Amino acid sequence: MTSWFCDYAVLPRGVRRNVRITTQGDRIVSVTPRTRQQPTDEHLRGVTSPGIANGHSHAFHRALRGRTHGDGGNFWTWREQMYAVTQRLDPQTYGRLARAVYAEMLLAGYTVVGEFHYVHHAPGGRPYGDPNAMGNALIEAAREVGIRMTMLDTCYLSGGLQGAGHEPLDPVQQRFSDGSVDAWADRVGQLQPDAMTRVGAAVHSVRAVPRDDIAAVARIAGEGLGGVPGPMPLHVHVSEQPGENLACEVYYGCSPTELLHSCGALGPCTTAIHGSHLSERDIALWGEMHGIVCFCPTTERDLADGIGPARELASVGTRICIGSDQHAVIDPFEEVRGIEMHERLKSLERGRFGIGELVDMATTHGYQSLGWCDGGQLREGWLADFVTIRLDSPRTAGCGPEQIAYAATSADVTDVVVGGSRVVEHGAHAIGDVGRLLREAIVELRRPV
Ligand SMILES: [Zn+2]
Repeated sequence: MTSWFCDYAVLPRGVRRNVRITTQGDRIVSVTPRTRQQPTDEHLRGVTSPGIANGHSHAFHRALRGRTHGDGGNFWTWREQMYAVTQRLDPQTYGRLARAVYAEMLLAGYTVVGEFHYVHHAPGGRPYGDPNAMGNALIEAAREVGIRMTMLDTCYLSGGLQGAGHEPLDPVQQRFSDGSVDAWADRVGQLQPDAMTRVGAAVHSVRAVPRDDIAAVARIAGEGLGGVPGPMPLHVHVSEQPGENLACEVYYGCSPTELLHSCGALGPCTTAIHGSHLSERDIALWGEMHGIVCFCPTTERDLADGIGPARELASVGTRICIGSDQHAVIDPFEEVRGIEMHERLKSLERGRFGIGELVDMATTHGYQSLGWCDGGQLREGWLADFVTIRLDSPRTAGCGPEQIAYAATSADVTDVVVGGSRVVEHGAHAIGDVGRLLREAIVELRRPV
């Protein structure tokens, strides 16, 4: 048994003072507010939040940070640069980069990550000896640094969608594809979950997967696969760009959300990534089907995607969570503030979301989206994942503890506990200098062949 004493803790009914948390193995045993510190307690100074979920990650995009933002263009020209990095990845280089990126996430306060993984095979689409060599490199990287992971293995079958239909894969995209849903399922069924790793499914988008194949993936995710029982989490990029909506409308005569609904792919275990351009009908469907939408505000603004209808979605009962997606920024406070602040700019109103709603986005809803339904709250019996944010930095000094999410940055995270183990202590990860590890891994990927 380990005991932790928090100056303040974010409990389900709000922030409380002097909270003692005991943990055993990977679970919380007790949570006692307004109590005294015991001599054996680990003292967590500042505000302790439940674990924070990063609902959407492409770990390799981290190699593009600080290199693509001043070049003009749009999402599609950025994608060309992203594809150039893709070509340099192999299980060794990707594993080294991912290890450093996941360590950076832990330092920032993320305790669980949903890795939306589609770079499956060697260039040209040739499978590795272990057909899951790339996915296993990512899972191993997460285990090594101690972040919880849901491997969202992604079905990717076609090169794009135009009004006339789906296009063939281009040479870069060939390594993303298994060729068919059956081959995708055979490979994904071999992934091994454990106490820190879950396996979920993903459809890259309506651009990359035709209608009947979306229906097949949704059916498999509902039933379970390999040793993984259903329903598995199902993630899909949805309506990030107006161009996707237009192509879908012309080819199928409906929106991407309506297409997913007609395929049986919308439900409480489905998460739409982005949802930047949703119609009123789409918003109503996400609400009726009790789905989840993952906003990635720092990515969406960097790529000039647009501002999604967060308030409208939440008002019809859709759960909202956050993701760092392309990792131009890895900072959960920035993402969750981004949702509220973008709403303010759009609506000319403050307080579009209450602080409790913002906490749920960062914690419970993200855990639910990733299939960890007993995580994201400081409660007896729940996963022992929590994050401490200091109240004495230049950014947070003088803040009320209940409003710290409006002021803190990732630099204010001091301690991170995942599954009962402290993986970040006093702002440092045991792996060492994470900046150096990131630089080395990125230099390796950018070195001329
Ligand atoms: Zn994405």
